[in-house]
Amino acid sequence: MAQRYGTPTSGGGGDEGDFRRRRKRRGPRGGPGGGSTSRSTMRRMAPVGPPKTVMLPSILTVAELAEALGVTPIAVIKELMALRMMATINQQIDYSTAARVAEALSIPTEERVNETRRGAATMTAEDRQREANEDPEAVARPPVVTIMGHVDHGKTKLLDAIRSANVAAGEAGGITQHIGAYQVELQGRKITFLDTPGHEAFTQMRARGAQATDIAVLVVAADDGVMPTTREAIAHARAANVPLVVAINKIDRPNANVDRVKQQLAEIEVVAEDYGGDVPTVEVSALEKLGIDDLLEVILLVADLQELKANPHRPAAGVIVEGRVDGQRGVVATVLVQNGTLRLRDIVVCGATWGRVRAMNDDRGRKVRQAPPSMPVEILGLLATPEAGDMLQVVADEQEARAVAEERQVQRRIGVSPDRPLRLEELGQQIQSGRAKELRIILKADVQGSLGALQNALSRMAEEQTVQLRIIAQNTGAISESDVSLASASNAIVIGFNVRPDAAALRAANAAGIDIRFYDVIYNLVDDIQAAMKGLLEPETREVTDGYAEVRQVFRLPNRVQAAGLYVLDGRVLRNDRVRVLRSGTVLHDGTVGSLRRFKDDVREVAAGYECGVGLDGFNDFQEGDQLEFYHVERVAAS
Ligand code: GDP
Repeated sequence: MAQRYGTPTSGGGGDEGDFRRRRKRRGPRGGPGGGSTSRSTMRRMAPVGPPKTVMLPSILTVAELAEALGVTPIAVIKELMALRMMATINQQIDYSTAARVAEALSIPTEERVNETRRGAATMTAEDRQREANEDPEAVARPPVVTIMGHVDHGKTKLLDAIRSANVAAGEAGGITQHIGAYQVELQGRKITFLDTPGHEAFTQMRARGAQATDIAVLVVAADDGVMPTTREAIAHARAANVPLVVAINKIDRPNANVDRVKQQLAEIEVVAEDYGGDVPTVEVSALEKLGIDDLLEVILLVADLQELKANPHRPAAGVIVEGRVDGQRGVVATVLVQNGTLRLRDIVVCGATWGRVRAMNDDRGRKVRQAPPSMPVEILGLLATPEAGDMLQVVADEQEARAVAEERQVQRRIGVSPDRPLRLEELGQQIQSGRAKELRIILKADVQGSLGALQNALSRMAEEQTVQLRIIAQNTGAISESDVSLASASNAIVIGFNVRPDAAALRAANAAGIDIRFYDVIYNLVDDIQAAMKGLLEPETREVTDGYAEVRQVFRLPNRVQAAGLYVLDGRVLRNDRVRVLRSGTVLHDGTVGSLRRFKDDVREVAAGYECGVGLDGFNDFQEGDQLEFYHVERVAAS
């Protein structure tokens, strides 16, 4: 990660930048500044000219990092605290965490690993593609395509139609195996399709740092038009900078209306080529296998524009498409080779496991001895089951494979995720210091009107250049799990205006550390973002959700007072909590609990799976099906 923002390794190369030498140059406590650790001191001490890159190992202790950077361990611990990590001097951290500490101290770093390990450990998908394009031995490779779209618009049918209609010449013999990806051929050129349709798998992979897809095919049924998931899929593809091809499906249906689909798409800024835009569209019928070759041709044209390349002469690097255990064959994994060629008997590291490739099959179940770039293969021989999105890398020998896998296991045990998403405050500080370019936002609002107003307010800020921000998705309705996964994959924050997350989204946000911020006044939102960008926004309080409940019954009491019979869905609800009443994800009321009862007894709390009765202060408008979010506000210690 540091390579992206830091100065590239300057002069001398490899050994020059080794961290022990750097320590000598700077002296044991960072040179003339003695034991001082403040950032300004660090800057004063920095040598004239671009700072030299410090080489760091994949895993190191806080003390070792301090030594490498020429600062005190306390300075490192302080920076870790700013990243919301509590660490002791002897605690192990991984390279990406160390790099962020170094970045905060304006010291460029690079991971000290040999060529093959570096690929697996730290390179992003974009880095990989860039590297492949700069490699003089790189040649064109087939594009990798994911199919996205709304449910029932024909994604699965289209995948089947493409597969059965375009088996590569001379390969018709094999029996179709569903290994998670397949290749077809058109005019002697191959195209790889990922077999799991939908943007969920796509975004999950991105969240793990893998980008397997070069082109997204957006399926829209001609009789149904643009639907919520269509919009979601567009946002996910856009956030990943993956070009779109639109397949307008079901044109065999009597009520198919291609023009209406194109108009609807244009309204959300996906403008077809014949509407003056740059998005290729193809009319198809997956059912009657019409237009399939046209679609493949367009995919190849888009691929040509991207100049996708890889070097087949290197040791392979790839990504896991799926992993499972088979009763007879043991661990089976489908690998999509992204660069290099994977060969039988290669030794590979894959996520936190490793192994030797004992057998390799293609998507027709035939044994193969090697797999060039963009080819999906099923491999046997890994010691444990990898997960979709894990990177695979060929290494020199077993010893190295074991060492890397063990490092990764430690990394996973200590729970350092390589790309911890940031909160608004930290993003603001990063943009201030030039370490991040823009603030990415996912905007959710109760109604179209507020969405428009928010958009105006935010774009005005961007125009006045008070902040660099980019709205990567916007929509009305409750904050969903899909919004959270998009935020996680794109390092974005989610802003809810008069809307709340559903229980699944909240769980996902907590697990992934995504910042969801809620507003009901536009001015406050603008104010917060501006303050964050100036580095002024300090976290003071935060909300902690205790539980969710659903209204199952409404009781009318005298004096138009209401109580609700609840079923606690998740977590627990507390007598001292605050409550929001949500109807279809929109906030109707935000207030305090008046009474909480189980069987006529006042109680302090009720756990998930139980029923209870609740009355809210100043709210008497319950309806069956309303969701209640119970929460409390906590003070956050300033870091
Ligand atoms: P998915 O949920 O997007 O994967 O959609 P499916 O591929 O499962 O298709 C949903 C339904 O639409 C199925 O009943 C398909 O047979 C039907 N379908 C898919 N493509 C076409 C098409 O081109 N024409 C017609 N008439 N029906 C289609």
